[in-house]
Amino acid sequence: MQKKFSIISLGCFRNQYDSEVVCAQFIKDGYKFIPYEAFLKNDGNSCDTLIINTCGFIDDAKKESIETIKEALSLKKEKRIKNLFVFGCLVQRYRKQLEKFFIDVDRWEGVIEFSPYFNYRKKLWPSFIDFLKISEGCINNCSYCVIPKIKGPLKSKKQEEILKEVKLLDKRNVKELNIIGQDITSWGKDLGGGDFSLATLLKNIVGVAKNIDWIRLLYTHPRHFSDELINVVAGEEKICKYIDLPIQHINDRILKLMNRNITKSEIIALIEKIRKKIPNVVLRTTVIVGFPTETEKEFEELCKFLQEIKFERLGCFMYSRQDNTAAYFLKPQIHYKIKKARFDRVMSLQKQIASQFNQKFIGSTLKVFVEEKEDGIFIGRSQFDAPDIDGIVFLKNNKLKIGKFYNAKIIDAYEYDLVGI
Ligand code: SF4
Repeated sequence: MQKKFSIISLGCFRNQYDSEVVCAQFIKDGYKFIPYEAFLKNDGNSCDTLIINTCGFIDDAKKESIETIKEALSLKKEKRIKNLFVFGCLVQRYRKQLEKFFIDVDRWEGVIEFSPYFNYRKKLWPSFIDFLKISEGCINNCSYCVIPKIKGPLKSKKQEEILKEVKLLDKRNVKELNIIGQDITSWGKDLGGGDFSLATLLKNIVGVAKNIDWIRLLYTHPRHFSDELINVVAGEEKICKYIDLPIQHINDRILKLMNRNITKSEIIALIEKIRKKIPNVVLRTTVIVGFPTETEKEFEELCKFLQEIKFERLGCFMYSRQDNTAAYFLKPQIHYKIKKARFDRVMSLQKQIASQFNQKFIGSTLKVFVEEKEDGIFIGRSQFDAPDIDGIVFLKNNKLKIGKFYNAKIIDAYEYDLVGI
């Protein structure tokens, strides 16, 4: 009887990629894959091994991983799974404590070894959307971030291996390719002599991407965002006019304490240059509120800046104090109530910005990629929306094909989503 396995992949797109590599290994070892939702649907379903890829980045993510392990252990108690295999970032950080606490877990592994070579993967996302992990680890050492401690220093995948992977995904009819890493703008810095830059790599990726329509940049770092890269994004039609550019803060004293290695004026100059060279570009950013020692005045500076710059897309995090990071020792740490108030403030001002921005689309025509149908309504995204983290476009048509592009006339707009026909 062929053994069956399933997987729960928590955390970020990079974790998803690793989960697909692990799934491919289990299939190679003769296991049959069952999607977790399908497995859960029928109480009678059982499988030999359930895998959990954990996230250990910040407290909320850690809590979610631990809750998921507990749920899986109750499935084991009900004999719906025989073996529980837990791996990933949370295990990399707290293996000893976890092994002591969860004695019924059968196998523990930290993060999977990053291979600079082409990876076979079992796709967990719809076939036409994919992620290309070009590097792992990070050299920036932001003072609040534990990732370099979990994933180690920057390790770039070799260019020829990346292009081999793109060619395969291109043949597999992938329509949208999201370029990921911890900081993709540092790709190649560890590959020694030669022109190893993200700008050059992107040009070569576009060169072999015949069927792929959209190539999207996720997880860039403003410190390493070069003029060449701006020109490549501006000049290549396949590259989405969408840039994920986490700034984390804007006050110079806080940026220094965060070890972001960039100043307010440099961030502003970069944004102005990007917007000048790439008309209608959509900028996504991430900010942290309540970083240790952040004063009310410095927080107001951040709010004023966000109202002036008007990022089209924004994610906000309350600072999460993490052991094994430099910021852990900063004093004073900000009280949760203040962090929450600042978080709510940023999210409410961003809601207005996003809503005003979306209103501009009414009456225009947008190229929309149809991804799914829910409750009889077709749902898609424009190049200005990354999967899962940004808005969607509801389409009023009755007959559309999933996995296809359509030019949709935008007839209405909500804060984050659009309506088209
Ligand atoms: S660039 Fe990102 S992954 Fe790297 S240390 Fe900073 S926050 Fe962490």
